[in-house]
Amino acid sequence: DRDGEVRKGDKLIQDGDLVIVYETYKQMKAVTVTKNGEFQNRYGLFMHNDWIGKPFGCKVTGKKGGFVHLLAPSPQLWTLVLTHRTQILYIMDISFVLAYLEVRPGCVVMESGTGSGSLTTALARATAPTGHVYSFDFHEQRAEAARKDFERTGLSSFVTVTVRDIQGEGFPEEFANEVDAVFLDLPQPWLAIPSVAKSLRADSPVCSFSPCMEQVQRTCEALTTKEFRDLRTFEVLLRTYEVHEECLGTDLGLDDSVNNDNDSESAVRSPRSSPPHKRLCSVESKVIDSEEDQTQVSSKDNLMEKGPKKGRSRGEQLPSSLYPIVARPEAEAKGHTGYLTFARRAV
Ligand code: SAM
Repeated sequence: DRDGEVRKGDKLIQDGDLVIVYETYKQMKAVTVTKNGEFQNRYGLFMHNDWIGKPFGCKVTGKKGGFVHLLAPSPQLWTLVLTHRTQILYIMDISFVLAYLEVRPGCVVMESGTGSGSLTTALARATAPTGHVYSFDFHEQRAEAARKDFERTGLSSFVTVTVRDIQGEGFPEEFANEVDAVFLDLPQPWLAIPSVAKSLRADSPVCSFSPCMEQVQRTCEALTTKEFRDLRTFEVLLRTYEVHEECLGTDLGLDDSVNNDNDSESAVRSPRSSPPHKRLCSVESKVIDSEEDQTQVSSKDNLMEKGPKKGRSRGEQLPSSLYPIVARPEAEAKGHTGYLTFARRAV
């Protein structure tokens, strides 16, 4: 944690900046910093004036002593805080789309519909500063709201949002053979495929997102008719892992023999004798007697540096070998969002 300490090269928060106020990884909010502005949450009242001049990433304290972190906006964070006007694409699908569409700086990308601009934000960030994203949605208010969001995130010069019925009219003729990649998130994407074929440069990729297999099949038929090749459909499922250091000792890693100062290595139980799945992952739990030696809990690195040694006594630390890093899949895996169908225009 950096409580506002400024280092060389730090980008400092200024009046008018967009910051992501991070409370927990499930609780974040986009806030535009304004002189004399206030931010209120369950941890208390925070004054924007206290944020101005602090580096992005810092921890700031509110009037009641609660704290939040102020993060610099990124497409990944924006997806987590944006206003939902439609269903949106999330990071797992977005990262897959960007990789398989080979989106990079300088690319010209077309997309429909814009929706809430979740994918558009990532596309704009990936194509900038020399490329451009042309995003189309037939819903005027949504298109306007998305434009305002791109102003707010500083991406408006890299995205053009146009109101157009892509299923009815297709992409504009002026883009013929000019586009490096196309993304479709439409209810009937197969209707747009003929104009996608016209817009894409030879050998360039298209991706269509559809929630159900029947839509995928119709899209694949349309792609085949237009002589697209390398058709592939993926379903991306996210499995998150909880990663932590886990004590392989028992309780506080000691048995009774440690309480007399004539102890030996046997005072620390071997991993084999520890109860299965016993979790002692807080830093404090690694210290045999935290009251006697507070200084030893102050640095995690310090704890890790200490190796096993003879003559362990109260107030000393357990060897780092007893705290391997353990990863467990979380019980709840994110479910189906949709299928991503990729294809390449014929050469
Ligand atoms: N991919 C977007 C995101 O990540 O935020 C979400 C797209 S949302 C699910 C689908 C959008 O397609 C809606 O905003 C809708 O208005 C738009 N749409 C539906 N039919 C359309 C059409 N015929 N032409 C253009 N846009 C259309």
